[in-house]
Amino acid sequence: TVRVRFAPSPTGMFHVGGARSALQNWIFAKQQGGVFVLRIEDTDAARNRPEWTEGILSALDWIGIARGTYEGPYFQSANADEHRNAASRLHAEGRAYYCDCTRESVQARTGSQYQGYDGFCRDRGLGPGEGRALRFRTPDEGETVVVDLIRGEPTFENKLIEDFVIARGDGSAVFLLANVVDDLTMGITHVIRAEEHLPNTPKQQLLWDALGVKPPVWAHVPVVVNEKRQKLSKRRDKVALEAYRDEGYLADAMRNYLMLLGWAPSGDREIVPWSVIESEFRLTEVNPSPAFFDEKKLRAFNGEYIRALSVEEFAAACQPWLTGTDTIAPPPWQPAEFDPAAFAAVAPLAQTRIAVLSEIVPNVDFLFLESPLVDEAAWAKAMKEGAADLLDDAITAFEALADWSAEPIKAALEEVGTRRGLKLGKAQAPVRVAITGRGVGLPLFESMAVLGRDRSLTRLRAART
Ligand code: GLU
Repeated sequence: TVRVRFAPSPTGMFHVGGARSALQNWIFAKQQGGVFVLRIEDTDAARNRPEWTEGILSALDWIGIARGTYEGPYFQSANADEHRNAASRLHAEGRAYYCDCTRESVQARTGSQYQGYDGFCRDRGLGPGEGRALRFRTPDEGETVVVDLIRGEPTFENKLIEDFVIARGDGSAVFLLANVVDDLTMGITHVIRAEEHLPNTPKQQLLWDALGVKPPVWAHVPVVVNEKRQKLSKRRDKVALEAYRDEGYLADAMRNYLMLLGWAPSGDREIVPWSVIESEFRLTEVNPSPAFFDEKKLRAFNGEYIRALSVEEFAAACQPWLTGTDTIAPPPWQPAEFDPAAFAAVAPLAQTRIAVLSEIVPNVDFLFLESPLVDEAAWAKAMKEGAADLLDDAITAFEALADWSAEPIKAALEEVGTRRGLKLGKAQAPVRVAITGRGVGLPLFESMAVLGRDRSLTRLRAART
């Protein structure tokens, strides 16, 4: 049976490119009636932290790869003995040798810039010891052909592959070997991973051969890049899946978008149910060129997913931002100031306008705060010449209203505007900042209706002083 694995290193936030690879592995396993294995590659003790592992598990959970539905998690560190045994075996069989060269000594010999190891210790017959690395003896002839479902058959000349290190001076295996030994002992048949690892693949395939096991089929999925065609990086770009989650991207939108990196469903459509992706996705159809992670497009996607929710689902999805959680900052109002009925009244208006759920807060905070948070630039822009007189007239007209609901409020302001030769949009501007503190937001008259007559008039009068 097909066995695939996702093998992240817990050295930081969970990268969106990693999430993409995980989903591709997941779907491939499902399509093949195979098994998805999760292996945490936690051997870099200096950079690993348990909270990163927990972050990976919960982020996977969030995008639909739920704990308990896959094999694992296994921890690479638990297999250290097997890694050492494989290294000893390769040494015993003459496939690897000890080497005490340093980069400087190699350079001194070759007299040029370091261009890989020169094989100096190949036949010195050194035994193990402090400061001695174990190197794999790569073949001098022939070529290594990698079978890759996405890239055809990348072929590497063996004489260009240096004798690479497989274990350190203390006997511990390096990534190249540990990763192979784990894949081999876990019976992995298909390695689906990022393109960044392609240079490692011929070396790893030589290790599979040397260990006497048929290598897996490989699939190197495209590198993910930003709008400048640079590889997405932690320092420069927003790459953490958790950051998108906490900003209010929906898991369904996120995983739909991630699957479009290098692939598209049939027909002229991009937003499709997950079941369609699960049945239509083909690993062999993934485009090998770099995939552009377009945050603007993702936002637009998310907006569509938000609008596809029922109002009840939308209101429920907003909850974490209305209260705050351990990873989402609390809103500017006190819990006691929150009014569920007022929120329910404006939720449908917000649902059609926001692209990410965190945007709910600046759209509704005016309802729950004693006085609104003022955007100074918007205030200055709206309160120009004539605004004071207009507000005075508006206050008078509003005070006279018998029915405090959106339509009469609008009609009253329209009339005030007409008297001053102002279109409704212009007449609204000072009223909007006085009521909400902002230059843009939910429809103004509905907002005023929900806020209530007294609170609305208080704010308008306050804006006049
Ligand atoms: N731990 C490696 C990484 O995070 C896994 C490489 C692989 O999938 O083989 O990049």
